[in-house]
Amino acid sequence: MNRLTENLSGWGRYPVAQCGLLRPERHKGLGGLSAEGGIARGQGRSYGDAALNQDGAVLLTERLNRLSAFDSERGTVTAESGLTLRELLDVVVPRGWFPLVTPGTGYVSLGGCIAADVHGKNHHHDGAFSRSVLEFELFDADGAVRTCSPDVQSEAFNATMGGMGLTGVIGDVTLQLRPVETAWIQAQHAPARDLEQALTFLQDNEHDARYSVAWIDLQSRGRALGRSVVMTGEHAVRDALPAAHRADPLQLKLRGERNVPLDMPGWLLNPLTIRAFNALYYRLEGRKTSPFIVGYDKFFYPLDALGHWNRLYGKRGFVQYQCVVPLEQAHETLRQLLDALAASGHAAFLGVLKRLGAASAGQLAFSMPGYTLALDLPFGGAATLELLQRFDEIVLAHGGRVYLAKDARLSAESFRQMYPRYDEWLAVKQTLDPQGRFSSSLSRRLGIGEPS
Ligand SMILES: Cc1cc2nc3c(=O)[nH]c(=O)nc-3n(C[C@H](O)[C@H](O)[C@H](O)COP(=O)(O)OP(=O)(O)OC[C@H]3O[C@@H](n4cnc5c(N)ncnc54)[C@H](O)[C@@H]3O)c2cc1C
Repeated sequence: MNRLTENLSGWGRYPVAQCGLLRPERHKGLGGLSAEGGIARGQGRSYGDAALNQDGAVLLTERLNRLSAFDSERGTVTAESGLTLRELLDVVVPRGWFPLVTPGTGYVSLGGCIAADVHGKNHHHDGAFSRSVLEFELFDADGAVRTCSPDVQSEAFNATMGGMGLTGVIGDVTLQLRPVETAWIQAQHAPARDLEQALTFLQDNEHDARYSVAWIDLQSRGRALGRSVVMTGEHAVRDALPAAHRADPLQLKLRGERNVPLDMPGWLLNPLTIRAFNALYYRLEGRKTSPFIVGYDKFFYPLDALGHWNRLYGKRGFVQYQCVVPLEQAHETLRQLLDALAASGHAAFLGVLKRLGAASAGQLAFSMPGYTLALDLPFGGAATLELLQRFDEIVLAHGGRVYLAKDARLSAESFRQMYPRYDEWLAVKQTLDPQGRFSSSLSRRLGIGEPS
């Protein structure tokens, strides 16, 4: 197959890598291609270099998006790994089913969801994506295909869930879905005056809805540090809908998408504009304290309404820092992170805080019981990298870790400390890929695949 060489980046547009692209049309040839190694890529929604391979091969799965089986009685579905959650939702929601776990964008492939073992707003209830995976095919470095499930080839299953594409190429995927009565969510917001109150709301029974997340105002300072709007939701039952939606409760008129047409000037997102936006957002969203009905797309994927929103950060791109910190001392750890951000003078636009539940079985999976904080920063060169290094020190000192799907700059040393089950993972990787053919810009930067 001919390779086209192209400059690629992740969603943050930093870094950029020159990669040789392979774009199979059919799932049939995956065995031959996987034996060539390189790294698979779904929708490129990981932020950093997980789906990049400088001077190496990148296998694009975007054309492998066929849905081959849907059991509408049991709510199971089998599809190629390039199918996006959006494409899946279009088929299953009108028939009364919904993914058990979804991240904050629908423009992700099933393969990407497995490789990062993504989490959603319900992690504290339902765990990560791995909980919904009944089985998948894995094309290993010999081009052989293994069928992996929690019971069969379970080592390969666990090493691939969160293994960032480094154990092989995922082919067909079978998922368990959740039954829903409607395509709507019953949501409710609660303004939290500071970090402490936000954490209380997130762990409070009263607010212990299936889905919860806090939008955090990263410009707040002093006593208001960490002020947030805590947003909760449940799948709405038919009787809770307004009469207009009750006749056809599984039909949703999806919003049209607007696009950011070109790179915005770098000054657009500055401390003044960000502060003004955050103050307005806090006021408007914090008011919605009574339950209200909202379409699933608006609730789960608010950012998808603006296509190419990553262009708002201009040509230099941005980095997202996402970490998880254990429950014990979570308040203190998060306070130190927010203080370090405030002291740096950096203006972070988007901040999200979520509660995470039990850890996944994957040796490299991100989740652990605690709180995860994600924040977006315009990429400003050395000063940004210095701040993120400071964040790493705080996170490490409190037993937390950085999410590889969002990372573009962690050091190999910090990675090893944050992921203590690395050696277990490596032992499985060596059985699937003894020559280390599957590798990416991320894996080489972090020394993933090398002995301790
Ligand atoms: C707006 C936005 C919101 C997000 N919200 C969340 C969130 O709430 N929770 C969360 O967990 N994540 C979130 N993410 C991150 C995103 O869910 C993950 O990065 C996911 O992996 C992206 O899927 P993708 O198809 O774009 O994969 P890519 O970015 O293309 O690849 C990601 C990883 O998956 C591997 N991979 C992809 N396909 C295959 C395959 N067929 N076989 C083997 N490996 C494969 C790649 O090698 C790479 O290591 C968000 C991202 C964005 C842009």
